[in-house]
Amino acid sequence: MSTLVLLNQALRLRDNPLLNAGSGTLHAVVVLDKAQFFGKQYGLYRANLWRLNQQIQAILQLQQALATKQIGLILRFGDTTSTLQALANELNATTLIAAEPTSPHEYAALQQLAGPITLTLIDCNSLFGAALRLDINRVPDRFTAFRKNHEPLLQVSLPVPPFIPRSEQHWLTPQQAEHHHANWSALDDYRHASSAATPPIITETAAWQRLQQYIWQEQHILHYKETRNALQGEHYASFFSSALALGSLSTRDLWQQIVEFEQQVQANDSTYWLKFELLWREFFRWQMRKYQSRWFSQTGIKGQPNFQPPQLTATQRRKFAAWCAGQTGIPFVDANMRLLNQSGLMSNRGRQNVASYLIHDLAIDWRLGAAYFEQRLLDYECASNWGNWAYIAGYGNSEARPFNMIKQALAYDPKADFVRHMLPELTAKDKTAHRPQANTPIPAQWHNWLKELD
Ligand SMILES: Cc1cc2nc3c(=O)[nH]c(=O)nc-3n(C[C@H](O)[C@H](O)[C@H](O)COP(=O)(O)OP(=O)(O)OC[C@H]3O[C@@H](n4cnc5c(N)ncnc54)[C@H](O)[C@@H]3O)c2cc1C
Repeated sequence: MSTLVLLNQALRLRDNPLLNAGSGTLHAVVVLDKAQFFGKQYGLYRANLWRLNQQIQAILQLQQALATKQIGLILRFGDTTSTLQALANELNATTLIAAEPTSPHEYAALQQLAGPITLTLIDCNSLFGAALRLDINRVPDRFTAFRKNHEPLLQVSLPVPPFIPRSEQHWLTPQQAEHHHANWSALDDYRHASSAATPPIITETAAWQRLQQYIWQEQHILHYKETRNALQGEHYASFFSSALALGSLSTRDLWQQIVEFEQQVQANDSTYWLKFELLWREFFRWQMRKYQSRWFSQTGIKGQPNFQPPQLTATQRRKFAAWCAGQTGIPFVDANMRLLNQSGLMSNRGRQNVASYLIHDLAIDWRLGAAYFEQRLLDYECASNWGNWAYIAGYGNSEARPFNMIKQALAYDPKADFVRHMLPELTAKDKTAHRPQANTPIPAQWHNWLKELD
């Protein structure tokens, strides 16, 4: 009898309780789920090849790191449930240890194994681990109530000590693991590292280098609150989201590093605010666990569920395509969408605005926007993505939140540097570059703000 240790969503050696949890014969495994990368929702692919490539990089780096401890990592590509079932049969495994997912699809994929296989799900990617676990039915639906319930004595579970294989653990070696890879060669074309000028922060090593730089060496964290609303740049925000989404960085480790920085160097509004944003992430994770598949209803967590796929008229279809391509004629929207398409990321301010524009100005079902973000974002995370989209639409943990694109553009890109950089075809100077293209429909409430562009 042996145990599979599924390292999906925990692609790290540091603060990884999954590695410490088992004893006896252990097999470390990662399964890249085919449907998550090649499946479709509402006619859109669920991921792009760049995210696949980045995820492979993070997995291969973990494989190397484990090899230094003489532990092999079995790599599999296919349907998660049947792949794990087949592997369990092959290796005579009766137990599976895995990170407890938040997404209902991932949760269901693991639950289907229960019965012949004993599941041990460990919530290793939340700030509140087992000892501080929340009662899901009592998690407030408003962020402020959620935060206040936990402040001022906010206690977060501590990271676990560095992983050292114990004598009662008998891991498959790298050489033995080689015999159990399956279908991984189907991914050969997607394996080669991208040559992006600024590589995204995805692997465990890259995440820790970024943490050292952002927090300790260059101390950008001390200005986070003032810079976090910028639209582009290297240090305006932390850029930890992709590594957090893949679990190559532990949120508890990150939290602990901020606390240590506050104790050893300085605590200010900005250091607090980075923790505040990690609490938003936490909030959406518990909300996803609370309402599960309701997040994919057109009405979100409010009213009667409606799981009918979005329906678009021909005109809406054209508008949606223009939004995706960054060709709506509203420079602030287009610049942000082109940044997403080129880099796989977008600032939080940009995300809020393009989402608002799609939902409230183009009147398109918010779930299509969420699905397009799911496809493009390198930091895609189910709870944060669908929770934020529903929030702006008014179907989540808030009333609807329409933004005025011109007002926002003037506040966050006052000289139009960002839009002119992203849209080289613009010839207008200074803030006048925010003027919508001729013939672009303009909501009445923007008219007063358009005068500010004269
Ligand atoms: C429509 C929309 C969709 C989004 N989709 C995602 C997504 O798929 N994955 C994702 O990680 N974030 C998502 N966010 C939240 C946020 O925009 C990103 O986390 C942030 O921009 C990532 O950059 P950063 O790591 O530099 O963030 P920082 O500003 O440095 O924040 C630090 C961390 O706090 C968390 N955080 C910050 N803001 C939020 C927020 N609003 N909601 C939840 N967590 C937050 C993230 O883990 C982030 O890495 C979305 C926001 C919106 C408005």
